Amino acid sequence: MSDTHTKQAWQVALTDLITDPKELLSLLQLHDPALLNAAEAAARLFPLRVPRRFALRMQKANMHDPLLLQVLPLHAELIETQGYNHDPLNEAATNPIPGLLHKYQSRALVTLTSACAVHCRYCFRRHFPYEKNNPGRTGWEKLFAYLEENPAINEVILSGGDPLSVSDKLLTAFTKELARIPHITRLRIHTRLPIVLPERITEDFLAWIKSLSLSCIIVLHANHPFEIDEEVKCGLQALREAGVHLLNQSVLLKDVNDRVETLVALSETLFAAGVLPYYLHVLDKVQGAAHFDLDHEIAKTLWEGMRSQLPGFLVPRLAAEIAGEPAKKILL
Ligand SMILES: *Cc1c(COP(=O)(O)O)cnc(C)c1O
Ligand code: SF4
Repeated sequence: MSDTHTKQAWQVALTDLITDPKELLSLLQLHDPALLNAAEAAARLFPLRVPRRFALRMQKANMHDPLLLQVLPLHAELIETQGYNHDPLNEAATNPIPGLLHKYQSRALVTLTSACAVHCRYCFRRHFPYEKNNPGRTGWEKLFAYLEENPAINEVILSGGDPLSVSDKLLTAFTKELARIPHITRLRIHTRLPIVLPERITEDFLAWIKSLSLSCIIVLHANHPFEIDEEVKCGLQALREAGVHLLNQSVLLKDVNDRVETLVALSETLFAAGVLPYYLHVLDKVQGAAHFDLDHEIAKTLWEGMRSQLPGFLVPRLAAEIAGEPAKKILL
């Protein structure tokens, strides 16, 4: 019998994240005091959070490492930029009850937690009032009542905060309730954990997946081929063997993945790991992330470059989210 009070290795890793910019920079042998000062200032607005194993995949003494750039707080985040705001998707308007976003007809997005294992500096939810929007177990009654009363919803999406940062016990309790609603046939999980914290894919987790009566889709979030190492691949293979459909979404990020060869390598690496590319998102215009943004014309040119080198099924749809639209906008 497993002791329910003993933390699993992944839960220990989640409480042992790198959160101090000084530690991250010294681990990577980056000893620039200006970089450190800026990181400390920017981390006060949106804290630094990086799993140790993810940091180990970064190249030492390379301040342009594509994995590091996704997590390192920079001075550029402190610059107010016109045209970028705090809730670019106007999510407050599609939030009928705490923990549930119902923006698109057939899909409801549920947040079980505000916690992520990694803080991506470009995240459009960096200013989102998660603390006020965490249903908690007490909010589930309202949430399930809403799902029950809306038969057009056939898919529940668990999304960010990272749904896999909650315990298997909580996931099990949630899907048990969900299984009672006959018009819900699919469970989709948007998560970055199998990429940044592959030890999350445990036997217990796989047992939960296999127990589901719903079809299960996991949409990963990787932006660069270097994020996928052998350990990540093993976890993904186990998920596939458990019957999960694996997709990936990426965000197009200046200086991280804005080259055709990087995007092509990402698609090829994903496919080799059993994952199909789904969306390549243009950046949501969130304050503090303007330095990652790329012109839509550049995005389209990069997409055309991918299209000319890859089979159609390895080319993600280039998507933009526009507040108030019935679906995400497909640019290409
Ligand atoms: C992105 C998103 C979805 C899913 O959209 P798909 O096009 O089905 O991937 C659902 N709800 C919300 C609120 C979203 O932001
Ligand atoms: S894991 Fe997802 S929700 Fe969490 S910070 Fe990164 S992009 Fe945002």
